Amino acid sequence: MSDEMNYIQAQRFAFQHECAECGNSPSLYPNEGGGYEVRCQNKDHKGFIRLKGYYQAWREGQAVPIEIAQNLIKKERRGNANKGS
Ligand SMILES: [Zn+2]
Repeated sequence: MSDEMNYIQAQRFAFQHECAECGNSPSLYPNEGGGYEVRCQNKDHKGFIRLKGYYQAWREGQAVPIEIAQNLIKKERRGNANKGS
């Protein structure tokens, strides 16, 4: 991973990862030369763990934001409509 990302990339990265050492969401820090660095609020912490996608988390029965859960349920119902279940 590059340290330099644009805001969207950095935001997406932060959203999809958590700190490997404390489990907190990484934060975005603007670089002096442009772009953003994503890291833990504790700058001694190194490394990230990739979070599962919402869909996978939801399938496993984990909590996801209610709006996302509702969308997933709608999609699931549509997908199962032809299977008769
Ligand atoms: Zn951390």
